[in-house]
Amino acid sequence: MPGLELLDSLRAIVGRDHVDAGDAVREEDTHDEALTAEPVRPAAVVRPHTTEEVSALLAFADSALVPVVARGSGTGLAGGAMPVANGIVVCFDRMNRILEIDEQNHVAVVQPGLTLRELDDALAPRGFLYPVYPGEMSASLGGNVATNAGGMRAVRYGVTRHNVLGVELVLPGGQVLRTGGKFVKSSSGYDLTQLVLGSEGTLALVTEVTLKLVPRLEHNATLLAAFATLESVASAVPRLLGGGVTPLILEYLDTGVMAAIVHESGLELGVPDETRARTAAYLVVVLESSHADRLEQDTEAAAELLAQLGALDVYVLPRTAGMNLIAARERVFFVGKALGADDIVDTVVPRAEIPAFLADTAHLAVEHGAIVSGCGHVGDGNVHLSVFQPDPARRHDLLESLFRSARDHGGAVSGEHGIGTEKQSYWLALEDPAKIALMRRIKAAFDPNGILGPGRLLDAPVAAAGRVAAAAGAGEQQ
Ligand SMILES: Cc1cc2nc3c(=O)[nH]c(=O)nc-3n(C[C@H](O)[C@H](O)[C@H](O)COP(=O)(O)OP(=O)(O)OC[C@H]3O[C@@H](n4cnc5c(N)ncnc54)[C@H](O)[C@@H]3O)c2cc1C
Repeated sequence: MPGLELLDSLRAIVGRDHVDAGDAVREEDTHDEALTAEPVRPAAVVRPHTTEEVSALLAFADSALVPVVARGSGTGLAGGAMPVANGIVVCFDRMNRILEIDEQNHVAVVQPGLTLRELDDALAPRGFLYPVYPGEMSASLGGNVATNAGGMRAVRYGVTRHNVLGVELVLPGGQVLRTGGKFVKSSSGYDLTQLVLGSEGTLALVTEVTLKLVPRLEHNATLLAAFATLESVASAVPRLLGGGVTPLILEYLDTGVMAAIVHESGLELGVPDETRARTAAYLVVVLESSHADRLEQDTEAAAELLAQLGALDVYVLPRTAGMNLIAARERVFFVGKALGADDIVDTVVPRAEIPAFLADTAHLAVEHGAIVSGCGHVGDGNVHLSVFQPDPARRHDLLESLFRSARDHGGAVSGEHGIGTEKQSYWLALEDPAKIALMRRIKAAFDPNGILGPGRLLDAPVAAAGRVAAAAGAGEQQ
């Protein structure tokens, strides 16, 4: 479709002021936060304001075979929101309202462009919490749904999948559907909410989300435990969780990551030099409670258990230091990026397999001449690795070996960031072909013309020139 005709059609739907094209496309809309993806300038970025506008956009795009990429806040780490050169980006930042906070049913109904920060600011005064906490509070709820975002509190509250009760979605062609609702259970046919969760914008566009809320507990405490080996910290986790402690947060950081974030944020944790010299990794345990005295008892019990599990030392951090440590942990990605990390990995294994996976990782890093530094949501088996190996071919071999090791330990390529454009080749190579074929049939049922999210997840990579014409042939890949 000629450029002007395309732009006229888009402007007729969302208004002149909400279509950016050519030089008017903002730089931040040309990429997400994936370290390996090169920015791409799309034909246009459109900013709808209502579900009706999204529906009209998808009706138009489907009939004209225009590729569509959804965008929330662009904080994704797998290239999921990377534009396609001849396609449009549907950016949800104008659909950012809280539609309802229902205090009886403990749910919030929100538009997809709302950020986690905006939601939390509205919930805090009412004593509620949306518990999913993927660190980056500028991320949108729509992006969280599409990536099935996880984060630090998953060990206690689960991931996005466990906290979304329903969605409104728009299919290619423009049909609007509602799935789920303000109820917590249903045995009434296929669970379409769960199918769309984690589908990375390749099945439908999400225009409304119904979220589960929990009471906001007032009291929390942060423990920092130093361990002499990575293996001992990883082995402590199943026993800690089995010992009756249910932490809000359970993170491990190797000494490389801890040193980098302490330096970057000027943290003072009070770990004596002598202990630091003997430490290979730290475990950070955050506990929460509605009662101060109960929290104190739990903190004492957890400290005792950590000491029994081989910690060199256990520190109960003052409240501010604890909060600062978690805030610094949130910034690990940016610290790694500033230090020149070439890629990051968020692979997941059963938590009891973490010691063996980390031993493989250390071995593979040496074999491939790389530096690999790690931290992660250890309670969920979700290991985050910063990979320093500038040579693309050697890095590719290393990542392939790391993902293969994770799979062989019973895990998966991505625990929470998604596959996007950047982890696609590894995932397609390692995943069961029968499952990929079934997923392609599901994709074709939602999106027969293959307009949504070309070049990511299941779809073949897009050539730099884009694929408006090729979109029609997407069904051939099944
Ligand atoms: C410093 C930092 C820390 C992070 N920590 C974590 C973490 O701990 N855990 C974690 O899980 N993630 C983490 N992330 C990754 C990121 O924040 C999440 O992936 C988040 O869910 C992305 O949301 P977004 O709004 O930025 O989505 P985007 O990056 O804009 O998009 C992500 C995907 O969602 C799709 N999408 C967006 N909106 C819609 C919609 N309305 N309908 C359909 N599809 C849509 C896009 O097409 C794309 O495939 C971190 C990122 C950073 C930069």
